Formats: sequence, structure tokens, C-alpha cells
Amino acid sequence: MNSARIYLDHNATTPLRPEALALMQRYFSEHFGNASSLHAFGHAARAGLEEARAHLAAALGCASAEIHFTSGGTEADNWALMGSAALRGPGRIVTTAIEHHAVLHTCRHLEGLGCEVCLVQPDRRGWVDPGAVEARLDEHTILVSVMHANNETGVLQPVAQIGQLARRRGIPFHVDAVQSFGKVPVQVDQLGADLVSVSAHKLNGPKGVGALYVRAGTRLAPWTHGGGHEGGLRAGTENIAGIAGFGKAAQLALEEQPERQPVLEALRNRLEAGILGAVDGVQVNGQGALRLSNTLNLSIEGVQSEALLLGLDLEGVAVSSGSACSAGGQEPSHVLLAMGLDRRLAAGSLRFSLGWGSTAAHIERVVDLLPGLVRRLRDLAGGA
Ligand SMILES: *Cc1c(COP(=O)(O)O)cnc(C)c1O
Repeated sequence: MNSARIYLDHNATTPLRPEALALMQRYFSEHFGNASSLHAFGHAARAGLEEARAHLAAALGCASAEIHFTSGGTEADNWALMGSAALRGPGRIVTTAIEHHAVLHTCRHLEGLGCEVCLVQPDRRGWVDPGAVEARLDEHTILVSVMHANNETGVLQPVAQIGQLARRRGIPFHVDAVQSFGKVPVQVDQLGADLVSVSAHKLNGPKGVGALYVRAGTRLAPWTHGGGHEGGLRAGTENIAGIAGFGKAAQLALEEQPERQPVLEALRNRLEAGILGAVDGVQVNGQGALRLSNTLNLSIEGVQSEALLLGLDLEGVAVSSGSACSAGGQEPSHVLLAMGLDRRLAAGSLRFSLGWGSTAAHIERVVDLLPGLVRRLRDLAGGA
């Protein structure tokens, strides 16, 4: 990465850490074998695969056999929802209006196949009340799916409480933990989850690799059919290099979590205070709720977030407007709209997400830059 550039978009993706890259290179070259082969080349690949699986299992507090590698968080989310609906028949799926599109668009697809989808609305802070989820559970409910941390606001959801409510009724519970994994503890028993989605590239691992935790005994249809890979549930020759990189990145993220997160939180809080102190008409989306320590989502009155984003980019600062998935589109964030923001404020939102490599100097640079940029954009809008 060009060191003059400042990357504050870690919730979109993160740089690959060198330790993960070094391990991946060995599985691209030296240990290129197919993990299903019975010879030494196969054994070496199998060893790398199972070592990564053990790292994931240790991180999530589950058995290795409950980890199933996928092509990423999106596939894990699709599989959890479609695999549940396939075996439990069309029925009600209770989820929230602030889920990632990997969940929401899969739900829309399942509606077309006869499922009923209930979208629970968050409060103004972007927090989902467990009672509001409970109110939608009925005897036809086949799955509850609630994300652990929202990728746009960073707001942490009360998944443990929701998990208890689902368990009491014998309803399987899926948690999209893609954004929280590596930032806060994600322990499957604490969450009370039967299915958990995680992804490598959100914690300094490679893109195109993720995993779905499937609690032993949970009924889930296979995702792909073919060889007996991944416990017979997800056929296809494994992406050993990517998986090894995921294992290494997860292991290191977990080790470093206790020391890294308070540092990020202090930087995030400085960024928040610096901007609020220098620019008027700013609100923090998610304020008052428990949030990920790396995330700051702001709405700035009288500006278009795309204009701000491009202005910051010209100065070498990378941030995000709305969700990355709607980037390029002018559609305001579905998360902010669900929180009750009017379209104007939602269209003036910026997300800063800090991570590995973020420094105090980066934060001061943004605090210096942003007020002038906002002033110029407001002047332009006012003069027009
Ligand atoms: C990034 C993200 C995903 C998608 O994961 P990919 O590995 O990019 O497919 C799903 N859910 C959440 C909350 C995310 O932040």
C-alpha cells in the first residue's frame, strides 16, 4: 500500500497481513497437492487444511468438524439460509432490516420459493430489541438470522439474548459474525448460535475465503454436490492457500485482539471528538449503542457523501459512503433508512473504519482535512 495513502475502510476489506501471505505462498508452490490425494503431496495439503480448521475452531470455541470452509461470508450466509429452508421446508424466517445484502437478498430469493420473511426493525440507534424478534417467532418459524455487528454502524446486536429465545422454541439461530470476528470475542456457545458466518478478508486474511460454523446436529442441506469435501456438505477441491491464510489471520487477530482493540477505540474516539468539535450539523449514527471499537458512521448535514468521499480520496484518504455494496449507486443505505434517518441525512453519511496500520497521524490528518472540505461543499451547495 502506498504509505502516503490513508486507508480507513477496513469494514469493506483489509490488507493481507504478511504472515498470512508467507504461509499462503508455501501452499501455492511447495505444498500444491490436492488434500484428497493419498500420497505425500496430498498429506501436506491436508495438514495445512486441518491446521487452519483447528485455528478457526479454537477462535470460535467449537469442534473442528463443525467448521466448513466456503468462498467467503456471502456464500456462508447464502448456505445458512438456503440450506435451512431446503431441509425444514418453506416457513417463516425472522431476520432484521439491517442485515448485510448477503442475508437480505437471499431472504428475498427464498420468499420467491414460498418462505415468509419477517424483517424486524431496529431502534434509532440501529439496535435490534430481542423482544421485537421474539414477537415474530411462531410455530412456522424455521430460522432466526441476526448479525452480530452491523458493518455500517458497528452496532453490536444482542445476539446472545436472541439465541436464548430461539433455543427455547427449538428454532435454529444463524449469526452473521463476518464483521465482528477478530474484533470482539465470537464464541458460538456464548452467542447461542447454531450457524455462524465468518470471512477471512475482514480480519487481514485473503479474499474469497470464509467459513460456516454448523453446530453438530443442526439440519442443513449440502451446499454443493460432488466429492465428500467439508464433511460431505460442500464439495469441491479446497482452496488450501486461501484457507491457510485465513487460519493464520484468524489466529493472529485473536491473539492481538485484547491489545489492539483498545488502541483502535482510542483512535476512533479521537476521530469522533475531533470531527464533532470542528464541524457543526454532524450526528454519530449508532451513538448510545455498544459499537465496534473501529467504526465511526457519521451523517453530515448539507453535503452528499459521494462528494465528500471523492474529496477525501483526492487527498489520499479512503473512506466509505453507505455500504460498499451500494457504492456507485445513489441509493441511501438501507441500514440508515431502517434506523429512521431521513433520506437527506442518510445520503450525507460517511463511514470511517480503522484497523491494522491505522495511526494517530492518520486520524489527525482527517481531523485537519474534513472541516475545510465540508465547508467548501456546503458553500457550493449554498451558492448553487
Ligand atoms: C463483508 C460482509 C459480508 C460478506 O462477506 P464476503 O466475504 O465479502 O462475501 C457479509 N456480512 C457482513 C456483515 C459483512 O460485513
